[in-house]
Formats: sequence, structure tokens, C-alpha cells
Amino acid sequence: MFITFEGIEGCGKSTQAKLLYEWLKENGYKALLTREPGGTEAAEEIRNFILKHHNEKFPAFAELCLYIAARGFHVENLIKPSLQKGIIVICDRFSDSTLAYQGYGRGLPIHLITSMNKEATGDIEPDITFLLDVPVEVGLSRIKAKKKDRLEEEPLQFHQRVREGFLKIAEENPDRIVVIDGTKEKGTIFSEVLNQVVRRL
Ligand code: C5P
Repeated sequence: MFITFEGIEGCGKSTQAKLLYEWLKENGYKALLTREPGGTEAAEEIRNFILKHHNEKFPAFAELCLYIAARGFHVENLIKPSLQKGIIVICDRFSDSTLAYQGYGRGLPIHLITSMNKEATGDIEPDITFLLDVPVEVGLSRIKAKKKDRLEEEPLQFHQRVREGFLKIAEENPDRIVVIDGTKEKGTIFSEVLNQVVRRL
């Protein structure tokens, strides 16, 4: 089973992904927790490259190519082999993030990103995706308290477009994507996540 978590910065997806991973391990399931961009040595190098060079003008298409390249390494070398071994793979961000950030956020053509995602992922698609939805102000105030993020420099409207993009993607994929109100309490959100996962185990 392949499970992904999506949402804007500070939505709480990494916390929920970790909670789910720990629950699965404690209950005797073979599970892997990974993230995008990153997950393998090569893909983590691409992640660092993207995060490091944000001071230089970063063309949106170059950014897209890098995220897609990182996904290619990740799918081929970690996600696919793990799924083939029967491991439950939990991934913090996946293809929907590229559509939301580079497509709806930066304005690159959706059809182009959809094709590139398809090339990078082949026949790998999440069985279930949790979209943790929070208002932009809530997400950004949470990350400000924790870490400096390169996207903090982006105007509020950028994050707004990304949030709306995620919601649109969810609307178009109702069988795969479960939207959860990310402003709820951590334990309440986790119960919703677990409820959905357990019925598919
Ligand atoms: O989720 P995480 O904090 O690990 O993401 C790292 C950074 O990369 C964040 O600023 C995130 O918004 C950004 N990102 C992006 N486009 C993507 C995926 C992540 O701008 N497709």
C-alpha cells in the first residue's frame, strides 16, 4: 500500500505521517517513512540543491525539472522496490505537491506537469492521499515558530494559490484523496487518518 500526505507548509502532514508510521510498526506491519523531495541519496542531493540556491533567480521550469528528477530517483530506487516487497510506503509529499506548487502556485501548465509526473512515476500511484487543509495564515504562523523556510519569502497569494490548487486536485480525485481539516487537534486528525488506513489494510 502506498500512502501520501500533502498540504501547504505548516499543515501538520509530517507529524501525521510519522504517527502513522509508528502505529504501523507497533502493530507489526512492515512500513517505510520517506519524503519528497528526497528519500534517496541522489534525491536528497537534489532537495539540498533546490533549497540552497534559492537566492539565485530560480526559473520555475528549472525547479519543476529538479523536483521531477528527484521523484524519478525516489520511485525507481526506493518506492517501487519497497512496494514490491509488500512494505507499506508512507510518503511526505508526492506528485500532488508538484501540481499544487509548480502548477497552481507558479503557473506552469498543468498538462505539462501531469505528463512529467507520469513519466517519473510510471504505474506507481498512491492508494490513498491525505490532504491536510489549513488556512495559509495558520500554516505560515506554525512554521515561523519552528523553522525558516525558503517559501516564507513568497507572497501570501502564492500560498493561497497552492492551497486552492490542492483542494482542486482533491475535488478531481475524490476516490484517492481524503481532505482533513488540519486545524483540528493532532489526536483527532490521527484518528481520522487511522480509520481510513485500517479499513484498507
Ligand atoms: O514539506 P517540506 O517542508 O519538506 O518541503 C520542502 C520545501 O519545498 C517547502 O518549502 C515546500 O513548500 C517546497 N516544495 C515546493 N514544491 C514542491 C515540493 C516542495 O516548492 N513540489
